[in-house]
Amino acid sequence: MPRLVMKFGGTSVATVERIRNVARHVKREVDAGHEVAVVVSAMAGKTNELVAWCKEAAPLYDPREYDVVVASGEQVTSGLLAIVLQEMGVPARSWQGWQIPIYTSDAHGAARIAEIDGSGILRGFAERREVAVVSGFQGVHKETGRITTLGRGGSDTSAVALAAALKADRCDIYTDVDGVYTTDPRIVKTARRLDRIAFEEMLEMASLGAKVLQVRSVELAMCHGVRTYVRSSFDDPSDPKEGTLICDEEEIVEQQVVTGIAYSKDEAQITLRNVADKPGVAAAIFMPLAEANINVDMIIQVVSDDSVTTDITFTVPAAEFERARKILEDQQKAIGFSSLQGATDVVKVSAIGVGMRSHAGVAAKAFRALADRGINIRAITTSEIKFSVLIDAAYTELAVRTLHSLYGLDRI
Ligand code: ADP
Ligand code: ASP
Ligand code: MG
Repeated sequence: MPRLVMKFGGTSVATVERIRNVARHVKREVDAGHEVAVVVSAMAGKTNELVAWCKEAAPLYDPREYDVVVASGEQVTSGLLAIVLQEMGVPARSWQGWQIPIYTSDAHGAARIAEIDGSGILRGFAERREVAVVSGFQGVHKETGRITTLGRGGSDTSAVALAAALKADRCDIYTDVDGVYTTDPRIVKTARRLDRIAFEEMLEMASLGAKVLQVRSVELAMCHGVRTYVRSSFDDPSDPKEGTLICDEEEIVEQQVVTGIAYSKDEAQITLRNVADKPGVAAAIFMPLAEANINVDMIIQVVSDDSVTTDITFTVPAAEFERARKILEDQQKAIGFSSLQGATDVVKVSAIGVGMRSHAGVAAKAFRALADRGINIRAITTSEIKFSVLIDAAYTELAVRTLHSLYGLDRI
């Protein structure tokens, strides 16, 4: 019997009425003869509320207890969906992460899935034709038995990992848009829905800010070859559209040079002025940051006029900005710089496409177009299938729209 994992995000389960609509999608697949495991998120806004409560309770909370609190949102929706399915005559039961179990690392708040025992769910399929309604986002650490969570947006990862563990034929990620678009359809009205996108491109889009899928879920789909679709839960349950398939590059016939544009406001820029221009300085700056687990992304070192001092600019995640600043200021003497300047009102805008591998000058075109609109570029990075520019946050929409039309992505 074909086997399917269906995942529904927060907006899709925001009310009991919407959960009823989700149940109609599930019933359709059960009636079509599928064995179904459903992964649900917490109701929209719930996880934010739970996170805020932890912070209110104590600014330096115990991460193990944070996970106990924030995992609770998904417990509610899994129980509710099971109740609604039963009421519709579809056999169903809820599963919490620890009941399956979904074993994870003990990195509370950002745990990684290590192993999933799908046998209980499979027995439910075989013996009772029972839909498994699984709480997304949660797992358990085997050695300590403590509840863990997978990081924000982690239900996508729960779904893909479960699809791999159950050897499902497909994983359908239902959300509030009907697929993956050339850029965030909420900020560019002319964005186009893609029928297909390559794993590598989706991975870059997600890493560079498109929150439609959690990065780790794309990694898992790629690594286990899970056929993953992004589609809308707001489609008519009796007549749903297929959405976007994340697939191998070879399965895409019409390849564009640039497939999509992403942006991330989760960036902060740090500039160290008058750093000594001598061997070992870069190590002195970046080693302490690496030791503190702070990811440095874009780096620019200005060629010095006098061969004595230079300026170094780089970016860190916005959430790590204060920590990075403190570490560097503590090391000011050892590193040797005159001052530190920081900016958090910056955004990283990126263009992604596997076609960039075989085309020259793709980024250069963008620099010209941004300059023509008076947008100053603070930093640049490139890799094989993407390039990113750091600009003032005030220009986010203008820059995204500019690049979107520059590469012919606008819907006509
Ligand atoms: P869910 O709660 O279902 O997990 P998310 O809010 O996490 O949903 O992700 C869906 C959102 O991702 C959309 O509402 C959309 O605004 C945003 N998004 C950003 N970039 C893209 C993109 N390229 N294609 C589609 N959606 C995108
Ligand atoms: N509820 C969690 C969050 O908001 C997980 C998810 O929705 O994917 O981050
Ligand atoms: Mg999400």
